[in-house]
Amino acid sequence: MQLPIYLDYAATTPVDPRVAKRMSECLSMEGVFGNPASRSHIYGWQAEQEVELARRHVADLIHCDPREIVWTSGATEADNLAIKGVAEFHADRGRHIVTSCIEHKAVLDSCHYLETKGFEISYLRPSSSGLISPEQLSEAIRADTVLVSLMHVNNEIGSANNLAALGEVTRSRQVLFHVDAAQSVGKLPIDLAALNVDLMSLSAHKVYGPKGIGALFVRREPRVNLTAQIHGGGHERGMRSGTLPTHQLVGMGEAFRLAGDVLHDEYVKVGQLRARLLDGLKMLPGWQLHGHADQCAPGIINLGFEGVDGESLLMSLRQLAVSSGSACMSATLEPSYVLRGIGIPDDIAQSALRVSLGRFTTAADVDTAVAAISQNVQQLRRSSATG
Ligand SMILES: *Cc1c(COP(=O)(O)O)cnc(C)c1O
Repeated sequence: MQLPIYLDYAATTPVDPRVAKRMSECLSMEGVFGNPASRSHIYGWQAEQEVELARRHVADLIHCDPREIVWTSGATEADNLAIKGVAEFHADRGRHIVTSCIEHKAVLDSCHYLETKGFEISYLRPSSSGLISPEQLSEAIRADTVLVSLMHVNNEIGSANNLAALGEVTRSRQVLFHVDAAQSVGKLPIDLAALNVDLMSLSAHKVYGPKGIGALFVRREPRVNLTAQIHGGGHERGMRSGTLPTHQLVGMGEAFRLAGDVLHDEYVKVGQLRARLLDGLKMLPGWQLHGHADQCAPGIINLGFEGVDGESLLMSLRQLAVSSGSACMSATLEPSYVLRGIGIPDDIAQSALRVSLGRFTTAADVDTAVAAISQNVQQLRRSSATG
């Protein structure tokens, strides 16, 4: 059987072979396998050196100080640490948090947890293209607001918030600003030296690095304080304990270094593939693009189809590995909360497909996808008309 074409880069990416090679050099007896916290011998020193080089690569991509990078097990843990850590530390000062209703579950569920602890959360509703405006953010901030948490790029629809404008608001109101950048880092330029962002969640596996590793950027100037969520050993300046997984960190560092090298070229290439896909579908009637047409990460394309059952459509597209809405929601038949959040009617939302493109996608892949989607959508419409 021929494998389907992989068009689900927003769910995860394959590890770049150059990254896998560096990782494999940090595992066995011949490699750098030591505990980076071992201070008394060369095995530890070498591992620490690799860890700090990786930290520098991650920091360089987003223009921050390496000392502002705290390793975590992924963006989920980084979101938890940022939101619960800040809320807990500042609980005496205020118990109100502002976020949006289309955030990743790692943010929403952390907020729901805090609600059970007496915090109050405002869930902003984005525009129909998935963006939060500085004006609506400003209106939502109160005297007891301690944190704003908004994503950079949405994982289902690809829309990209204007971090510069939103950061102006949070800084002028003296509220901390956390950004989940799991889908944008390495895809869109991020300059933390110019942005008023205080905390930023990162993940390796959306950028051709390994799963199970990520980081939280925690600003030093002005200093951001948070309460650790994982205790023991005092690693990462007390913010996140646990033996550092050298191979994982080296993989993330190498993936981020490569992402920096190719960021512009890859953005152009993926943008051209996106245009090719949308152009190719022009002949097909009755579909719409969800999200923002150009303020977006070009690799994420969310499409809705009139008069088509989403489950049947996904089943019919056996030659394509695509997603309905979001991978996390695929087990349920509920329409995606993100599409609901931007006001897509349920009958269209249930038909939605997320096609996501990346480093190894070719024009031929896109052409195959266009042909398969066009054929199957029309076929399903015909059979539901006669059936
Ligand atoms: C994938 C993703 C996460 C979770 O990242 P993990 O590293 O898999 O924990 C969080 N937020 C967004 C927006 C994501 O796309």
